Amino acid sequence: MQQVLATAFGNVQGVLFDIDDTLVDLEFAMTTALRDASEHLLPGLDTAGWEKFGRIFTHETTHFYDRYLAGELTFNEQRLLRGRAALGHFGVVLDDGEESHAWLTHYARLQPTYVRAFPDVVPLLDALDAAGIPYGAVSNNVHDYQRAKLDGAGLSRISTLVGTDTMGVPKPDPAIYLEGVRLLGTSPETTLYIGDNRLLDAEGAVAAGLLGVWLNRIGEPAPGFAGHQIRSLDRLLG
Ligand SMILES: [Mg+2]
Repeated sequence: MQQVLATAFGNVQGVLFDIDDTLVDLEFAMTTALRDASEHLLPGLDTAGWEKFGRIFTHETTHFYDRYLAGELTFNEQRLLRGRAALGHFGVVLDDGEESHAWLTHYARLQPTYVRAFPDVVPLLDALDAAGIPYGAVSNNVHDYQRAKLDGAGLSRISTLVGTDTMGVPKPDPAIYLEGVRLLGTSPETTLYIGDNRLLDAEGAVAAGLLGVWLNRIGEPAPGFAGHQIRSLDRLLG
């Protein structure tokens, strides 16, 4: 017999999470590692400059990550292209050979060391465990990379994990959310899906028949958004 948990959005039998910038603070890890890997190339850059540099890299203005998801670029290619776009904004051009390789290697080595869970994650997982509610993650990156990321962030207790290579499709294809539901052994309409991306997480999950919730940690204005949203995972229970 499945347990039922009362949440701010009704009674649920399972919870699925996005990973990046939902469970783990990827933006912090990326911007900190970026600065470490790039400081020698941008001596004297001020705080506002580093913030701008980080925004160009982390926010998808270039759509290189979308091209990775579409199979047009490898993971490392999209990462390097985003790095070069950010460096190029400040007039730094890496050559195609040794300079690019060194930058990419340095960044790739550092970034995982800065990945950490948000402080509201463990208390929620504790509450779900106490209530006997199954949970898992559905992510727009490949399974093994995200498995290592969760484990590195101290979240190995999240044993159910669906990546883009699990079903061969990324969010917002309904199949990827529904595989998460299948693994939890719940039904879509009683399963919450929570993530920081309004389109891919909240709206995509709703379109797949789940209870999609937008985790809007930064309070981004959302004119026209009629779905569920919370500012923190603390807001989910009670
Ligand atoms: Mg995310």
